[in-house]
Amino acid sequence: MSDVSDDQKTDCSVVISEVYLYLDLECSNDRRNLIQNHLDDCSDCLREYGIEHEVKALVARCCGDETAPAELRERLKIKLSEYVVESETREYLP
Ligand SMILES: [Zn+2]
Repeated sequence: MSDVSDDQKTDCSVVISEVYLYLDLECSNDRRNLIQNHLDDCSDCLREYGIEHEVKALVARCCGDETAPAELRERLKIKLSEYVVESETREYLP
């Protein structure tokens, strides 16, 4: 779809860490576009957190005036805190 080169590819962890802001519409348009493009391209990070369906639906609505449902935001917050803990405790693979 887009011809983004490798060095411009956003890292999954960066996207995941900003998805919450994205859903809250708290990030800038630039960041939002970046995240949206990444999510279009890469469903790995979404699948990883079990939020693929919800986020895809939100993205499909193009982020008009809608914010994410509170339930999804809660779930994301929990997932993200788990993610942080995991990346701190798993500095190397077994
Ligand atoms: Zn990704």
